[in-house]
Amino acid sequence: MTDLAKELAAVVGPAHVLTDPAVAMSYLVDWTGRWRGTCRLVVRPGSTEQVTAVIAACAAAGAPIVPQGGNTGLVGGGVPVDLPEAVLLSLRRLTDLGPVDRNGTVVAGAGSTLASIQQHAHAAGWDLGLDFASRDSATVGGAVATNAGGVRVLRYGDARRQVLGVEAVLASGALVSHVDGPMKESAGYDLGSLLAGSEGTLGVLTRVRVRLVPQLPARAVALLAVDGVAEAQAVLDSVQSEVDGLTAAELFLRDGLSLVLAATGAAPPFSRGWPAYLLLECGGRVDPLEALASVLADQAEVRDAAVASDATGRAALWRYREAHTESISAAGVPVKLDVGLPAAGLADAEYAIRAAVDEVAPGARVIIFGHLAEANLHVNVLDAPSDRVDAVSDAVLRTVAERGGSVSAEHGIGRAKPRWLGLTRSAADIAAMRRIKSALDPDGLLNPGVLFDR
Ligand SMILES: Cc1cc2nc3c(=O)[nH]c(=O)nc-3n(C[C@H](O)[C@H](O)[C@H](O)COP(=O)(O)OP(=O)(O)OC[C@H]3O[C@@H](n4cnc5c(N)ncnc54)[C@H](O)[C@@H]3O)c2cc1C
Repeated sequence: MTDLAKELAAVVGPAHVLTDPAVAMSYLVDWTGRWRGTCRLVVRPGSTEQVTAVIAACAAAGAPIVPQGGNTGLVGGGVPVDLPEAVLLSLRRLTDLGPVDRNGTVVAGAGSTLASIQQHAHAAGWDLGLDFASRDSATVGGAVATNAGGVRVLRYGDARRQVLGVEAVLASGALVSHVDGPMKESAGYDLGSLLAGSEGTLGVLTRVRVRLVPQLPARAVALLAVDGVAEAQAVLDSVQSEVDGLTAAELFLRDGLSLVLAATGAAPPFSRGWPAYLLLECGGRVDPLEALASVLADQAEVRDAAVASDATGRAALWRYREAHTESISAAGVPVKLDVGLPAAGLADAEYAIRAAVDEVAPGARVIIFGHLAEANLHVNVLDAPSDRVDAVSDAVLRTVAERGGSVSAEHGIGRAKPRWLGLTRSAADIAAMRRIKSALDPDGLLNPGVLFDR
């Protein structure tokens, strides 16, 4: 054991310092299999005090620190790529959940999974406004660090909007903590907002105070077949103006559904295939199915429809959408891009993205799905030759930027996209971000290579 390993073992216990690369392997490869790293050790503290001591020891040894939660991130931000001297700091043991207070807030350890917070909230009659398919592994620390979105953004906003306060350890070893007190506050800088979306580059989150939302006991889901993205948008526009309680509006296309059917063995939702599918969910205190169905009956763009308000039926319809990420991975290691676009012109943007990929990687498959209400498309490119991966990213992200879009809507920049940050953020923005980074982490110890090129 090196001196640092011994020092950390004294803090967290020898069982929680992993120095054998074979044992550490699951921490060193990302969910997609695209990002692989090495590190000098993995450390798994079990309390805020231990995180503080670990960071102080790493700082004294000059060891870069890569924070990691559930390792479900899709931009390589939690994997120490080209950082053999790094310490991988796993926050997964920080799973304490405090009581739900009468205002519907709860303080969660950063390593709590979204599913565990949801269950905890349900038991108290509340719910978490944040949800997505990796809920059983993704941690609240990781979700806040990436400013994750997911399927409820339409109703409740992204991860940043759920944060009422954070506790975090800075690179200096200082603990900033503001997870108690009143619901409302305007006393000084909001460190929670600053750390949301910072991807482990400004501080290590140890606890998060999240606001919960009222539980909606009745839900209805509709899966609609349509002729394309523009038609899906037209239906969504009508539903948004005529139906109360819309919580989700998700888009997927014919080729994505084919991969899902192949990977899951599920039966197709309709007797024939259609170019595009829109999944809508409404929630309320009374069953919203009738109201939703009556608005949908008037939509000329809807070619076929399946609806459900019972839990099993809803889950079966959601599965067609939620199984996309795993089904795409079952077909290969994709180039994963997550972009935000202006809603106007979304259908044109879809064609332009496909054309841009075809130009640099002819024959590659482009699987697009996403969160329609925010015009957030997940662009997955399969079968691109390994020497064309950067060209594919460049072509897609420039196409998006030319249309006024963003190079990241909810997955973050990570290690995948620092060179394209300037397509979305101005030089002045990036200079201000760099000044904040050097003020809080002057030696660049926290997650080097993420957000900014090394
Ligand atoms: C099947 C699937 C579906 C998904 N769907 C969505 C979706 O709909 N919407 C969406 O936004 N994302 C989605 N994701 C991406 C991913 O799940 C989220 O970004 C998630 O929030 C990451 O959480 P994590 O705990 O796994 O973080 P990690 O992957 O472990 O880390 C992500 C980043 O956060 C940093 N980090 C982690 N924990 C901390 C901490 N405690 N303090 C400081 N920094 C930290 C890491 O350094 C890294 O930069 C999906 C992923 C999968 C695999």
